[in-house]
Amino acid sequence: MIPPLDLKREYDYMTSDIDDAIRKCLGHQKWILGPEVSELEDKLALYLKVKHCIGVSSGTDALVLALRAQAIKLKGEEYFDRNDRIITTSFTFTATGDAILRSGATPLFVDIDPATYNIDTARIESYLTSSLKAGNKIVGIIPVHLYGQSCDMDEITRIAEKYDLFVVEDVAQAFGGEWRGKKLGSIGDFGAFSFFPSKNLGGFGDGGLLATNDDVLAELAGMLRKHGGKDKYNVDHIGYNARLDTLQAAVLLAKMKHIEDFNRRRRNIAKVYNKGMGTVKDLILPESAPEADHVYHQYTIRVLKEKRDKLQEYLKENGIGTMVYYPVPLHKMKVFENRCEIAGELSLAERASKEVLSLPIEPLLTEEELNKVVGTIKDFFAKDKGITEEVSCGRLHQ
Ligand SMILES: *Cc1c(COP(=O)(O)O)cnc(C)c1O
Repeated sequence: MIPPLDLKREYDYMTSDIDDAIRKCLGHQKWILGPEVSELEDKLALYLKVKHCIGVSSGTDALVLALRAQAIKLKGEEYFDRNDRIITTSFTFTATGDAILRSGATPLFVDIDPATYNIDTARIESYLTSSLKAGNKIVGIIPVHLYGQSCDMDEITRIAEKYDLFVVEDVAQAFGGEWRGKKLGSIGDFGAFSFFPSKNLGGFGDGGLLATNDDVLAELAGMLRKHGGKDKYNVDHIGYNARLDTLQAAVLLAKMKHIEDFNRRRRNIAKVYNKGMGTVKDLILPESAPEADHVYHQYTIRVLKEKRDKLQEYLKENGIGTMVYYPVPLHKMKVFENRCEIAGELSLAERASKEVLSLPIEPLLTEEELNKVVGTIKDFFAKDKGITEEVSCGRLHQ
């Protein structure tokens, strides 16, 4: 069986680093905001080249805290209101849109660029100008660096400056990725990271982080993560219990030692897949923008002619696990019904949800395993072609 990801294999690869880190915590017993949390925050501030990092309880909470901090800073209110629109993509994990709702604002979904699956910046500007003319309020953008590839941050930054919007990068899938040599999460007002176990840098449970260069936003996020005040027993804002666990920070520090190596391995897997499947018809392989340093959280192919589900089934029968991220775009979910605004059509996001398939990307996969994935996919299309030809021959002879 070749799984999409194999966390046990990764633990076996770095057992002593992780066991030592956990044992250290057992020794000091400082479970809440212990020394490992600030050590990780300092280390990641250096790595990302930002002034502040704030460890939080999940990627979702990172997004919520970022938006709440923006509302407090920009409006002097605890929450946004429904007239405050925040632009994002519909082709993402629920949490991106859910965080907007929980901040009080309305998600404004813009369609994707079908080549990168990221938000289409040209559509942002054309919709934005007409929406603003109609008197609507738009306060910010959440670009999601989907599958580990950067959005067009030149355009996002230009649009944000021109129309005075904040930018919260959703970096949940792109730890270590870059845009023109700048680490993702360091470009917008906030970078929101997730340490969910399956992310490129994942803990042994939930965890997340905010990165920012803004002193005011950093202070607000720091307060919101611990009940809303500098003093826990005398608070200013409607806060959360949303701290990163000491134990998770310790595991993440140990795994940080391997992140560059693991992201390199992911890129190598992408190379093997690209080389192996470049000639397969009815498949579109992922494209990487030249300015983006893709970290392949997912290696996602597009399967044409409604063959995606059949291919997934065939791979499963042959012991190869794949995933569909995401089968339902956000604007089709009940939770966003009557709670979102749609910028024209979202047909490209809808189409992508029916055609994408993410292949095994475990950094420790062997060459043999990768070749098996490639070979099995090629088999599927060879057989599929055979079937189609048989059918058309049959028709000819009728
Ligand atoms: C995983 C993910 C999140 C949420 O992170 P959690 O740590 O699971 O809360 C948000 N956005 C995207 C794009 C994600 O992939």
